[in-house]
Amino acid sequence: MSMDVQTDRLTALRQSMVNDQVHARGVRDQRVLAAMTKVPRHLFVDDEYQAQAYEDHPIPIGEGQTVSQPLIVALMLEALSLAGPETVLEVGTGSGYQTALLAELAQQVYSVERLPELARSAAARLESLGYGNVSVSVGDGSLGLSEKAPFDAIVVSAAAPQIPQALLEQLREGGRLVVPVGPAHAQELQLVRKQQGRAVIANLEGCRFVPLIGQQGYEEGW
Ligand code: SAM
Repeated sequence: MSMDVQTDRLTALRQSMVNDQVHARGVRDQRVLAAMTKVPRHLFVDDEYQAQAYEDHPIPIGEGQTVSQPLIVALMLEALSLAGPETVLEVGTGSGYQTALLAELAQQVYSVERLPELARSAAARLESLGYGNVSVSVGDGSLGLSEKAPFDAIVVSAAAPQIPQALLEQLREGGRLVVPVGPAHAQELQLVRKQQGRAVIANLEGCRFVPLIGQQGYEEGW
């Protein structure tokens, strides 16, 4: 297959993913839909998984981790209500796919990944795609990134035992935090809004994420 034909085929698969898996299931934020139509998800997985990159499920990215199902990524991004000028913290860079979407949707993205090898390859991918408004660092993101706080929005891509206090503290007044909360088989995606210094919590969806491992997360081997 020529490069052009292959590129057209992947673009068509990506458009179908957005239409059939994301828009058809209720995601209406036009900026999220446009970003997902643009970002080449197949470049964030290993070659052996590229044929599955636009399918309706998570995909292994090495080290026992996954890039989340497209719909879940879309729901998390929509819940953040990003308009463009925001500074965002992402906890759990993984492949960097959601980081790229955030870079399309906000002004500045700080992403923290616990596993150095994943952080390194995600940063390299994001750089090769030209995302200059992203900074990836290695660390325990359950503690946030105090030196860059406060954040307009925070998204956590791994399940926490409860809403991490450090993240609440690093959220700006009026800011949004999206985090999956709960044990392996009973997680809820929660949207937390900081209003007059208080956390106002809404349950969005049942979900299933890998664990957030860290001081305000789970211990290894949960
Ligand atoms: N959103 C990512 C993507 O688009 O590929 C997928 C993230 S994956 C579901 C969860 C990630 O969270 C894993 O890469 C895992 O290593 C990372 N993680 C777990 N605990 C963490 C912590 N305390 N700080 C930072 N990253 C953490």
